[in-house]
Amino acid sequence: MQQNKTKYIRLAADLQTDSIVDGPGLRAVLWTQGCGHHCKGCQNPQTWDFEGGGLVPISAVLEAIDELEYQSGLTFSGGDPMYQPEACNIIAEYAKKKGLNIWVYTGFTYEEIEKLAKKNPIYTEFLKKIDVLVDGRFKLAERDLSVLFRGSRNQRLIDVQKTLEKGEVVLLNEYEYNESKYFEREPMYV
Ligand code: SF4
Repeated sequence: MQQNKTKYIRLAADLQTDSIVDGPGLRAVLWTQGCGHHCKGCQNPQTWDFEGGGLVPISAVLEAIDELEYQSGLTFSGGDPMYQPEACNIIAEYAKKKGLNIWVYTGFTYEEIEKLAKKNPIYTEFLKKIDVLVDGRFKLAERDLSVLFRGSRNQRLIDVQKTLEKGEVVLLNEYEYNESKYFEREPMYV
């Protein structure tokens, strides 16, 4: 079945809540289905199949966001959310209006997403909603449990709004990060 990109999203699981490892604070996580990167050592190979998981109405995800309590942010993971930018853009826009900060994990590098955006402006629209992008494929040889919120050292924590503003990649400053708005922001009480 051809997926209506603005009505459905293919997910690997229901919206998770209370994650403390997918970004700062207590977070909801949207596990998207489908990934073409096939990184060696990937922890979620069951999310690679573009026909796997289930097609879920975007409206149902928005309803699940309405039900969230005590979450400070929404993280898009997978799979790779960048294969479904239309649906993720709609969900991110809704979540942002609800006061959630947005983190996105992708196997694409920021520079690769810029190239995709030249062909399809929806990528730029999605980037405009993202606070932090964790970019790049997982590299087993660079696996490092000590790096914050990432699996391997090559992956970057990118401050997307500053990056868009400056026109060059701006990394999140991890030392300033503890003081940042992400931790200071009150959890969301619905
Ligand atoms: S990008 Fe992420 S989900 Fe995709 S193969 Fe690599 S580690 Fe797995």
